[in-house]
Amino acid sequence: MRIDYHMHFEYGNYTLEWAKGFFESGRRRAIDEIGIAEHSHGFIEFKELYYKELVLDQSPVGQFQRKWLASNKFKYSLSDYFQFMNQLKQQGYAAKIGIEVCNFHDHEAVRAILDEYPFDYIIGSIHFLNGWGYDASDLQFVWQDYRLQDIYEWYTAEVESLCSSGLFDILGHPFNVRLFKHFPDFDVSPYLERAACALQKSGMAIDINTGTLYRYPVQEISPYPDFMRMAKQYDLPIVLSSDAHKPEDCGRHIDDAKAYAESFGYDRVLVFSQRKAQSVPLT
Ligand SMILES: [Zn+2]
Ligand SMILES: [Zn+2]
Repeated sequence: MRIDYHMHFEYGNYTLEWAKGFFESGRRRAIDEIGIAEHSHGFIEFKELYYKELVLDQSPVGQFQRKWLASNKFKYSLSDYFQFMNQLKQQGYAAKIGIEVCNFHDHEAVRAILDEYPFDYIIGSIHFLNGWGYDASDLQFVWQDYRLQDIYEWYTAEVESLCSSGLFDILGHPFNVRLFKHFPDFDVSPYLERAACALQKSGMAIDINTGTLYRYPVQEISPYPDFMRMAKQYDLPIVLSSDAHKPEDCGRHIDDAKAYAESFGYDRVLVFSQRKAQSVPLT
């Protein structure tokens, strides 16, 4: 099966006009199953958590993040989302209903929000380190304030915490701390191993995500080869995704993701229905 399990409607609206472009691109690229994984910052239910957990003080990071939160976020409720997805289904555009949730520390608050809705799968992604949105292009100047080894330590600790919450099915774009080409000159294998170990324990899959190939300076699929080798060693299951934010990007580089996964010995992917995973051949 060819799947693309991670994309976002957030640059547009919940209208058929916007959504159908994603399905058309998916069809053109022979994707058998599409999954939408809207960001938690699209939903009003998560607003309080962002205001509680992000750096929002008078520092440059705080000022930028306050502006970020005030622009085009929290536009819909989860109930709007499910309604729209069901509407799409009725129009013949079937897709799995997922969500990509940021690495909040208040797991119980997240659980209370997610428990109310019948998601097919839930992706957890590390988007913040100590409240700093390290993947934001506008916040790249922050990287120079820290040692890369500390960033790896924080990232890994976030993975461990996310896995221990038991809230998630999939880790989004693992080790995308490489996205601005900050490459380690130290041995990262202990960090990779800790992450793989935590994922295995929690029964989570990893997201082989081509977004970092075409949307970020690093221009490589996440996770990068060293973690792929570790993932295979720990027998972590996979899903494939484009992280499309625009209709034309649905299914983008899924062929490459498939070949990439195969090169590490993978020949199956997971598909999800109502949080139940099923392993199917990767085709
Ligand atoms: Zn993400
Ligand atoms: Zn995403």
